[in-house]
Amino acid sequence: PLTFNYENAEIIGQNLSLPQWIQVLTARIKGLKSVMQDNDFNPDGSSGTPGLCSDTQADFRSILSYGVQEPRKFSDSITEMLVVCATTVHRVGLKTSPNELCPRVPLMAWNTCAFTIQAIENILQEEDKPLFGSLQNRQTAGLKAIVQFAASQRLRSAQAVIQRHFADLMGVLLPTMSRKNTPSVLEVDFFHLLVGLVLSIPSLYQEEGVDLQPSSISSAFNNLYIFHLVTMAHILQVLLTSTDFPAVGDGEETEEARAAAELYTTVSQLTGRSVPDLSGSAVAQRVKMGIEPFLRCAALFFNCLTGVNPSEELFNTPVMSQGQMETLYSYLALPVNVFQLFQDYRDSISPLLHRWCRSPAIITALQGKGQMIRYPRRRNRLIDLPEDYSVLLNKACHFQCPKSTDDERKHPTLCLVCGEMLCSQSSCCLSQLDGEDVGACTAHTATCGAGVGLFLRIRECEIVLMASKTRGSMYAAPYLDDYGETDHHLGRGNPLHLCPDRYRKLNQLWQQHCILEEIARIQEVVNVMFAFEWQLV
Ligand SMILES: [Zn+2]
Ligand SMILES: [Zn+2]
Repeated sequence: PLTFNYENAEIIGQNLSLPQWIQVLTARIKGLKSVMQDNDFNPDGSSGTPGLCSDTQADFRSILSYGVQEPRKFSDSITEMLVVCATTVHRVGLKTSPNELCPRVPLMAWNTCAFTIQAIENILQEEDKPLFGSLQNRQTAGLKAIVQFAASQRLRSAQAVIQRHFADLMGVLLPTMSRKNTPSVLEVDFFHLLVGLVLSIPSLYQEEGVDLQPSSISSAFNNLYIFHLVTMAHILQVLLTSTDFPAVGDGEETEEARAAAELYTTVSQLTGRSVPDLSGSAVAQRVKMGIEPFLRCAALFFNCLTGVNPSEELFNTPVMSQGQMETLYSYLALPVNVFQLFQDYRDSISPLLHRWCRSPAIITALQGKGQMIRYPRRRNRLIDLPEDYSVLLNKACHFQCPKSTDDERKHPTLCLVCGEMLCSQSSCCLSQLDGEDVGACTAHTATCGAGVGLFLRIRECEIVLMASKTRGSMYAAPYLDDYGETDHHLGRGNPLHLCPDRYRKLNQLWQQHCILEEIARIQEVVNVMFAFEWQLV
């Protein structure tokens, strides 16, 4: 946990408002050789945005005056492990050759951290478990280690690289730092952006010849402003991409509904599109639903990063009730009415909203060109299976191999991820993958599940788990007869019915990235006497 001098914090808080913070940051970045050398900053980035760069009193070193400290040092052996770990994440993640000096090494570590948190949040939500205290101790320790590992990237990479990443990430939010290819607010995952910004900002404090990082108080303000800015941008993202607003009447006009309605009107005017007339409470309800996964991830992240514990309530109740949300908001230092952010920061946020909404990429996207991601993201799950197995057998009877018309008996196999029927283990549907002959399932898995796949072989009534070209195993199908028995290869021939519990377990295995683990476990149990050519499945 951080040591904190509250008296100092208050004094700094009075002097470091959001506009001031943006100025200080901008002045620092503009003075950094590492960031400015390419000079491909958006030509109209700084002009035409009043309120952002006017009356600058901040200079290159202003940022240091809010408090600095020496960074902590790691022992040689820990440093070595951090390098090994980071290079592996980079090599495996990008399928590239090992190179510890690649500028993408720290980015990959931050993204791995963000993705892991999102996957965990997803699992907890799916299983209706409380946000905190649900993981086993081993898992909690692992999560903390990943966050600290990602945070340490700043110390072991060249500071110039990290500074450059920070400026690039910040460019999404602040036009003064945007470049020609900076993505619009519709194109980024804001939780990944949050993690990257929070973990890279300390690099701005580096002075020539002196290793410095922000003091705890400076860090707290940095994190607060980054988090508030990212949250506002994410709210806009949800607002722009949502079409399914709940049907709620005007009802009681709350402060929140009024603020939401005001934002909705402003954004509609800025984007210039015709939008349905909506009540403020409908907008508020929709936006709050959309940003919830982001906020839950942010709470997990800050908890692992700072060690500040949330209140008991977030440990106990699984579903996000109204009271729960309020506790979460308060842990994250957000106002209970989250739309109030736009009013509290009006001077800073108005010009930003203007820029975000008027970006050419957004205008194109809002005209319906290209795919838009909606929030909350739909949770991935396996396809629905029919209750009665004979429905599948019927489908298999009518199955026609797309590539051949011979009379040979085929093995119709259903991809449980997307529902496509494939012609498995058959020479007609062999194809090439990385210069090797592979069967239809292996080829499909490469595009459908990045190498991980679950299939139902219909005539054999068994599941195939696949994790790579050479790793796979059989698994009992989630269908049982009236005696509660599975019917491998349909030898018994009794009517079969879907067992929801077994299918849920499969779904969990897949959602929690445990297919590979399960295959390893099965292979350990089943003593494999001959090598099965999984790639031909
Ligand atoms: Zn598929
Ligand atoms: Zn075929």
